[in-house]
Amino acid sequence: MTELRKDPLVPKTIGVIMSLREGLKPTLDPSYGFRYPQVEQATKLGPLEARKYLEHLRQEGILKGELQDKVLCCPNCNMCNVTFRFKCPNCKGIDLEKKQIMEHITCGYIGERGQFVNSTCPKCKAKIDDNYRLVGYWFECDTCKHRFGEVPLFGTCKDCNISFDHREGAIVSAYVYTLSDEARDFAERKLTFLGNFEAILSKEGIQAKTDVVLSGISGAKHKFDLVFEREGKVMVADVVVAEKKTAADVPIISLFAKKYDIKASRAALIAIPGISENGKRMADGYDIYVVEANNAEEAALKIVNLFKRD
Ligand SMILES: [Zn+2]
Ligand SMILES: [Zn+2]
Ligand SMILES: [Zn+2]
Repeated sequence: MTELRKDPLVPKTIGVIMSLREGLKPTLDPSYGFRYPQVEQATKLGPLEARKYLEHLRQEGILKGELQDKVLCCPNCNMCNVTFRFKCPNCKGIDLEKKQIMEHITCGYIGERGQFVNSTCPKCKAKIDDNYRLVGYWFECDTCKHRFGEVPLFGTCKDCNISFDHREGAIVSAYVYTLSDEARDFAERKLTFLGNFEAILSKEGIQAKTDVVLSGISGAKHKFDLVFEREGKVMVADVVVAEKKTAADVPIISLFAKKYDIKASRAALIAIPGISENGKRMADGYDIYVVEANNAEEAALKIVNLFKRD
């Protein structure tokens, strides 16, 4: 997860995915196979680069991917603007015929269905009646008369014009991406890590600092996840990642004790995505604001509102 801090595209990508309730879904595209337009927009990467980048984050364990689809694309340029055709593996001709193969069980003769004229076996001349079985298919090239059992499928790429055997095609997988538990936890606790959080606040003249240690009148040192300040007005805050039904009583009491000791006038518990009604009543009793938010932007906007209120 150290990589999270270094790569400036990671918070942008995580921010996009956090704002999507059902994860980042691929968009089907005739040229690129699959695209992730929201990530392309946020990161300014091209369609192929964005796809590769997401795949890289998945391999690094930052994202989880649920396989949705796979398509066969050009092995040369990775574009998916490909059409497939049957071609003779011998002469590359396209005049192929699919033929059904029959066996006359009585005498063991195996041949193409067309040879059994009037339901008569070409070898033993007997009527075949029910005494036959369908063995399968083969393909025959009308140009060179070559016969082959396997479907000879060739792709042609409209972007780079190469032709390739389908077995050489590049398989492109489409995933629905969500955040790994580790990444979600990190992103939610470090709201400032998500680009727009600080931008929204600073536009309103509010400064945000993370992991701030302040000394209380008792002499003890207290760590706050966030401290906001505007024109001398200070608000301390902790972040909890909780389920809506959680009361969050421990973080509320802890925040209250710290707030009391440093003589802060305002404190907020930022709850992602929220806490129970009981928890809210409790926070109210301790004079602590509860900021419920699904993502960093929402939290930032609500903090701006708290500053506007008084
Ligand atoms: Zn190509
Ligand atoms: Zn042929
Ligand atoms: Zn026969």
